[in-house]
Amino acid sequence: MSMFEDIPVDVGIIYEGERIRGRDMQVELGGPREDYKFELVQARGMDEIEDGRITIIGKDIPELEEGKNTTFGLLIEVAGKEIEKDLEGVIERRIHEYCNFIEGFMHLNQRYDIQMRLSMKSYQKGFNSFNHMGTVLSRLYKTEMSFIEKIQLTFMTDPEVIKEWYGKAMEIYEARDARARGMNDDDVEVFYGCSLCQSFAPTHLCVITPQRYANCGAISWFDGRATAKVDPKGPVFEILKGDCIDPLTGEYEGVDQVIREKSLGEIEKVQLYTAFGYPHTSCGCFEGCAFFIPEVDGYGVVHRNYKGETVNGLSFVTISDLTAGGRQVDGFHGLSIEYMRSPKFLAADGGWDRVVWMPEEIKERIKNYMPPEIIPKIATENTVSSLDELRTFLTEKGHPIVETWIEAAVEAPKGVGELAVPTLEMPASALPIQGIPAGMGIRIILKNAKIKAEKMIIKVDKGR
Ligand code: SF4
Repeated sequence: MSMFEDIPVDVGIIYEGERIRGRDMQVELGGPREDYKFELVQARGMDEIEDGRITIIGKDIPELEEGKNTTFGLLIEVAGKEIEKDLEGVIERRIHEYCNFIEGFMHLNQRYDIQMRLSMKSYQKGFNSFNHMGTVLSRLYKTEMSFIEKIQLTFMTDPEVIKEWYGKAMEIYEARDARARGMNDDDVEVFYGCSLCQSFAPTHLCVITPQRYANCGAISWFDGRATAKVDPKGPVFEILKGDCIDPLTGEYEGVDQVIREKSLGEIEKVQLYTAFGYPHTSCGCFEGCAFFIPEVDGYGVVHRNYKGETVNGLSFVTISDLTAGGRQVDGFHGLSIEYMRSPKFLAADGGWDRVVWMPEEIKERIKNYMPPEIIPKIATENTVSSLDELRTFLTEKGHPIVETWIEAAVEAPKGVGELAVPTLEMPASALPIQGIPAGMGIRIILKNAKIKAEKMIIKVDKGR
């Protein structure tokens, strides 16, 4: 007999990856339209909680407006002899996996970014109360993470209660994240890998180091350490980092070896502190993305909750689609907000001196970790709204990137560098490529090509 016999819908790994579109949903819990939403796991003492207790504060599913979103909070309290505070982050991240086992239920993102949808079909089949959801979660947790001896769940849809808990949750996330700050990747022999998102992106593996937080922003190096100890067969595991191949880009022998094994040879190597060459892969759960802006040779950074267009006219969803899927895409880099507080943030690409644009909200959140002199030189949606305005802004503010434009305009001496191109001045409008409108940016990839020339001239295009 299945342990979910009394649940009106099926529960199993086959439902992971199921997408529920807006028109098919009974209700959306959290999501981008809601300011207040969270999921939180807290470790408690054995006598502090009641095993199996499910509480609903506010409306249950049938009372929520059909086809609409609602503010939402989920608090899971766990207890057990082996349970310690460092396990909270990883137990919390498993909400994503277990919710996605439910037929007709979709869970995206994490912490304060959650978006969950219940399909009309599953609702009509009888999955019509948070009690069902609580029962499924508590059984899965106790089966899959046997160190959890007691579990208690509280579902919240009451806006006032959620607002209060949201504030507490944000403080708890911050305290967790702060633990690894100040540690250095050189100080440890072991990193941690997480393959939880391989059900969505089979070639993706997060490499979690003290100075590179997991892409989802939910698992720190300490969380990885605690989990690998109590759940050695789980998706979070030790990576012996081995010899450092390149300290600047952050390439390690042990990491490369594990990444090759776990991606079944698809990803050859990973360099942790760069968005070019062999960047860390991105599944799709990242909190934000760095995206290269070739017109100014700098990076923009955008986070999931940013609702407008970036300075080059793209939305977060578009940038996210270009980045996700477990691939290594030059110039598109999934990341956590916490990684932006790290001294290793895009260190191989120039770090903060290479960042030219970011939303005001993120700038405000992390400004204490940015070099103070760069803060006023990075544009936001409130200071520029086009690439032309961005170029003017960077020039006026004396952003360090501007110096590199000037250097690039100086003619390289003959014989310098391997790649030397003869008079190759070709505006996009002159490219007679069928199907590509004049003026549209294109990317040409030459594979196994050898280019030989006597001279390279790089000029700033003043007409743009
Ligand atoms: S984003 Fe990375 S660390 Fe977070 S759950 Fe997915 S694989 Fe694990």
